[in-house]
Amino acid sequence: MPLSKPSERTKRLPPWLRVKLPDNKEFAETGRLLASRGLHTVCQSARCPNIFECFSRKVATFMILGAVCTRNCAFCNITPGAPTPVDPDEPRRLAEAARELGLRHVVVTSVTRDDLPDGGAAHFAATIRALKQNTDVSVEVLIPDLGGSECDLSTILDARPDVLNHNVETVPRLYPAIRPQADYQQSLTLLSRAAAAGVPAKSGLMVGLGETDGEVNAVIRDLAAAGCSMVTVGQYLAPSRLHPEPDRYVPPPHFDEYAACGRHHGIRHMFCGPHVRSSYKAEKI
Ligand code: SF4
Ligand code: SF4
Repeated sequence: MPLSKPSERTKRLPPWLRVKLPDNKEFAETGRLLASRGLHTVCQSARCPNIFECFSRKVATFMILGAVCTRNCAFCNITPGAPTPVDPDEPRRLAEAARELGLRHVVVTSVTRDDLPDGGAAHFAATIRALKQNTDVSVEVLIPDLGGSECDLSTILDARPDVLNHNVETVPRLYPAIRPQADYQQSLTLLSRAAAAGVPAKSGLMVGLGETDGEVNAVIRDLAAAGCSMVTVGQYLAPSRLHPEPDRYVPPPHFDEYAACGRHHGIRHMFCGPHVRSSYKAEKI
């Protein structure tokens, strides 16, 4: 997608997307506590506009397995390259921080670790177990595709997360440009395996990347067929000036139509809106 000048972008941002970014004492204190534990939340690093709402509902999204990704998706702001070694003490510290922050629902996500033989599955499982053994939180894991490995997925499912989340991110036609190292069918298979194992399956996608509404509805239908009981649809926003600009800003009422489509196909929880992110209202399970 062609890039536009920053001044043009600001001018085009519709009113429903102009939100004040969080910047208060509680935000700073939470940041300090997490930094002292060597932990990262997506909520803070992305300066997510939902952070007050989520933190007040005692929900946060932690990023494990480092901050460098072996893949390079067009929409993502994570640094690509050679990742750092796995920190075996990270699950314990994360559980401790979740307890100290009084969290109710924890989302655990990671970069994609194609460099690890198990894609980081054992580390995910250790993190789920540490949270389950040391806190009362419900645990949602937002996992990479694990290269389609059924065995690595089983490692994670055996730790019994409360929700298995894996995003398809966009419509299949756009995979070569947006998510070149991933495979749409492989992602659907992962979700159907989670659902078949009795772990609630969740997925999501962004709009504004060049898809049509017909394609969005087709993805929602595929996710329903894969057994997903939760689906998120949100507006793509360029995380920096170096990223492609959205090709459209979908107005809020339009998201209601995606939600209606999902419910029509039997998806129990549809979270659709301009500011909806994968982990938004994650505790509503
Ligand atoms: Fe954090 Fe997700 Fe809530 Fe944003 S939507 S604040 S990333 S839990
Ligand atoms: Fe970002 Fe995930 Fe793609 Fe890595 S695999 S670049 S973390 S979206």
